Amino acid sequence: MTRDLSPSVQRDADGRLRHLITLEGLSADELTALLDLAQFYVREAGDLPARDQSLSGHTIANLFFEPSTRTRVSFELAALRLGADVVNLDMQSSSRVKGETVLDTIYTLQAMHADILVMRDAEPGLPAYVAQFVAPHVCILNAGEAHLSHPTQGLLDALTVRQAKGDFAPLRVLIAGDISHSRVARSAWQAFTTLGVAELRIAAPDDLMPGKGEFAGATRFNDIDRAIAGVDVVMALRIQRERMRGAHMPDDASYHRAFGITAERMKKAHPGAIVMHPGPMNRDVEIASEVADGPQSVIQQQVANGVAVRMAVLATIARNVQSRRTFQ
Ligand code: ASP
Repeated sequence: MTRDLSPSVQRDADGRLRHLITLEGLSADELTALLDLAQFYVREAGDLPARDQSLSGHTIANLFFEPSTRTRVSFELAALRLGADVVNLDMQSSSRVKGETVLDTIYTLQAMHADILVMRDAEPGLPAYVAQFVAPHVCILNAGEAHLSHPTQGLLDALTVRQAKGDFAPLRVLIAGDISHSRVARSAWQAFTTLGVAELRIAAPDDLMPGKGEFAGATRFNDIDRAIAGVDVVMALRIQRERMRGAHMPDDASYHRAFGITAERMKKAHPGAIVMHPGPMNRDVEIASEVADGPQSVIQQQVANGVAVRMAVLATIARNVQSRRTFQ
């Protein structure tokens, strides 16, 4: 089988989402439906979390071949709160380190009736590749693919902005930092562009700016002080040192001086601007600690929304697969 890596791989013959691999190709209506369902699952801090049985009888396997805290835990909580059985594979001690191919690992899980596989891996294209080989009832959810795609992060970022600002149409959004190696930036760009923000800015030092063929429609800045002027949303990104091969990077203090989101710089943004970060943060490198913990920060709200968004994605995908089973 050839490697079909186009976004259509994630849809079934009727065009419904069967897998979630990328936000590319999802319409504004599809994104909005996922955000609306996620909002339904959001609860106030201190309230008991939402629960239902949408995934009763399903088995979710979490396969994280790269480190993760927020994404892995939130997928697990989301699945448990929807009544699924959940297994978390410890990939350090999995058979892949003994030379087993990813496909053989997937077939093993499939044979044990795991039907939703949540994957994170450093290899570009792996989720779409695997999706072409799994049984018809099995779904692949991308939980972070190399520098390319992190769809549930894009959705939780959009949900957080919508909660704070209401409407996307008037917004100026800035994504700042290591854009070139960031799957978060790519998925956020896809979500915000489809949802119709007024302006999307990306700001990075020249070495960390992606090639011209990417981020269509975004305005590019290599000067953070100009980029931040008047924006409603500031998203700071970690430097992805694990994805760099021999790139020259300044030390942390110099980077912070030149590019960090500081309280001083935030004064140039719109007074009601919010500050976001996908985590893990390197405090006082890409973002000043006082900004991360300050009144404009919605970083903890992003984390909370991560569980609700993953519940919405799991419930939607399971419903689509179920309706295919029922009507076939
Ligand atoms: N947690 C995010 C990711 O998996 C951001 C980061 O690692 O910097 O891409």
